[in-house]
Amino acid sequence: MLFNRSGSAISTIANILASPIEYLKGVGPLRADMLRKELNIFTFKDLLEHFPIRHIDKTKVNPIKDINAFTDYIQVVGRLVHYEIIGTGRSRRLIAQVKDASGQLELTWFQGISWVEKNLHIGSDYLIFGKTGFFNSKPQMVHPEIEVFVPAKAGAKAFLEPVYPSTEKLKARGLNGRQLAKLTYALMQLLQPKDLPENLPDYLVHELKLLPRFESYAAIHFPATDLLYRKALERLKFEEFFIAQVRLQLVRLQRSNASQGVVFGKVGNYFNDFYNKYLPFELTGAQKRVLKEIRTDTARGRQMNRLLQGDVGSGKTMVALLSMLLAADNGFQSCLMAPTEILAQQHYTGLKELLKEMPLEIALLTGSTKTAERKRILKGLIEDTIHFVVGTHAIIEEVVQFKHLGLVIVDEQHRFGVAQRARLWEKATVPPHVLVMTATPIPRTLAMTAYGDLEYSVMDELPPGRIPITTVQRNEMARANVMGFVKEEIQKGRQAYFIYPLIEESEKLSYEDLMQGYEQVKSFFPEPQYRISMVHGKQPADQKETNMERFVKGDTQIMVSTTVIEVGVNVPNASVMVIESAEKFGLSQLHQLRGRVGRGSEKSFCILLTGSRASKEAKERINIMCATNDGFKIAEKDLEMRGPGDIEGTRQSGALNFKLASIVNDKGLLELAKEKAESLVEKDLYLEQEAHQSLKNFMQSQKLKQGWSKIS
Ligand code: ADP
Ligand code: MG
Repeated sequence: MLFNRSGSAISTIANILASPIEYLKGVGPLRADMLRKELNIFTFKDLLEHFPIRHIDKTKVNPIKDINAFTDYIQVVGRLVHYEIIGTGRSRRLIAQVKDASGQLELTWFQGISWVEKNLHIGSDYLIFGKTGFFNSKPQMVHPEIEVFVPAKAGAKAFLEPVYPSTEKLKARGLNGRQLAKLTYALMQLLQPKDLPENLPDYLVHELKLLPRFESYAAIHFPATDLLYRKALERLKFEEFFIAQVRLQLVRLQRSNASQGVVFGKVGNYFNDFYNKYLPFELTGAQKRVLKEIRTDTARGRQMNRLLQGDVGSGKTMVALLSMLLAADNGFQSCLMAPTEILAQQHYTGLKELLKEMPLEIALLTGSTKTAERKRILKGLIEDTIHFVVGTHAIIEEVVQFKHLGLVIVDEQHRFGVAQRARLWEKATVPPHVLVMTATPIPRTLAMTAYGDLEYSVMDELPPGRIPITTVQRNEMARANVMGFVKEEIQKGRQAYFIYPLIEESEKLSYEDLMQGYEQVKSFFPEPQYRISMVHGKQPADQKETNMERFVKGDTQIMVSTTVIEVGVNVPNASVMVIESAEKFGLSQLHQLRGRVGRGSEKSFCILLTGSRASKEAKERINIMCATNDGFKIAEKDLEMRGPGDIEGTRQSGALNFKLASIVNDKGLLELAKEKAESLVEKDLYLEQEAHQSLKNFMQSQKLKQGWSKIS
């Protein structure tokens, strides 16, 4: 699809790298079986891409006496003086003693004992590499890598020896990191530059002074120097990022070029009247900038597919509304989709209030909309008498037909596939513009890789006058104090949230937790002086709504809830949030929850109650929460701590499957790759230029292989 213009066939020259691993000299059926099972190495290519974790300088042999408490991995040469097998069952082990001129070292094996024994000969010298430890204050290595020592031949080409990740099972069968190095060495001997042809455009290789591809593979495994290794690593990481970015940019620009879009050519009365008469505040610089981006995007005659990320409370809703007014000015309807009924209701109420003096029809459509009302709305939408519809997305997607739908806004949704959503609306001949608003920021590098095929806007500025939320951590033992503090706030006329974790494995447990919590809160805040709302996932929608509404109106001062509350709820008078078992929440979730307070003119507080058994990571999360209110910083930390695969809601896209590169550790390289990919794609959208043929061929072959591996 990416190359549809020329549609060139893919050459299927038999590729040595596709050879099954058992055909490599030194492998054979048994080892091949183990390599497949333990390391997922099926082909020559897989072995080539089994990269070393470090290199050791084989020429460097350390005296045993140098081993001390600070030694990590070390290489020594020692003569075997003794070994024995002792213990039984699980503690059965082979213990060997080796000696050099400076001292003695103990080696221990718990697994593969018979294999090790077979290969040990008293009086022989061994080259030994491993992680050191101390046992009874004597230096020791468990499961070292060991081979017969052969003094380096004079004039032999020196290189750093790679050490590969292996598994205990493989090590026990003699396929340790060193043996893998031998196999990889054998493989490199078979390969020629033509087997690993350059795939980056020559001009880039020159401009960035990148190591050529073949040399890079050679040097990442067997570098002559450390510098060469780093050059190789850099080049291969760049290649990974670059190719992923080219792919994303091709998708983005080709889609944008191919898709027609409705044209929002003018700013008219709806927008201007609202802006001049009813806008309750001055827009922030970020809001203005994003509106400008949307305005430009929607006027081009191409479909907009934009991701809007802003921190909690940055004012995304107003951007949404102003965009909807822009649509209306151009004769188009808009819909705003929210993930929950509560949120849809709230958006509807808020927008209706803002628009009350405007000659615009706005409707709310959710699962609990009554039949007659629903009929009226559906009719109004198909007849174009309703301008805006707000609702839960499931409802809107399923049943609604519009006469002139021009804009779809999806709120608070980085939890599900942005692109799917966008595609859904491509069914129409001229698709509406799509604006997806995330609940909390996404780290920049993640946005670039996981959502790189969308345009995106960032709102990195909060409305002025916000008083920062103070966040503290308290132990459960301090509960009485915490309750006392909440009481003071309520007596000042404020409202409070108590949030309980959703225990994923058990809805029942979560429910019980919540009920217990509710009783506890009630005992501190007895009726009728205090009134409490409770909202949870098991409630029928209307009950949820009533409870919510009472809290929004201030009829109840306390909201006890599970995380159903987290998305977007806006009660500016609420100034305290107590999060129970805070150690059970993820960072972005905590941040989102906390964003429910600090929305009004009063100072707000977030109290993270933790049990005594919080893990180290949990403690770090809590510390981060106490240290900053900045959602962008928190998102970065979250990514650092969890890695890209685990970030909630990110697409499980191939775009994140990097073998060497890391979006956490190689940010600079990613930026560079993105910049280069963008300028390439802008120049040559269908990769037709001569300079891009090798890249195109490579990308096509990559695609093909991915397809096959899925089938097999
Ligand atoms: P979010 O980006 O989290 O969805 P909201 O759109 O709910 O944030 O806005 C949070 C609050 O800030 C709302 O009460 C909104 O009215 C207010 N707000 C939005 N923009 C501005 C602004 N430019 N100046 C002052 N207050 C604003
Ligand atoms: Mg919002």
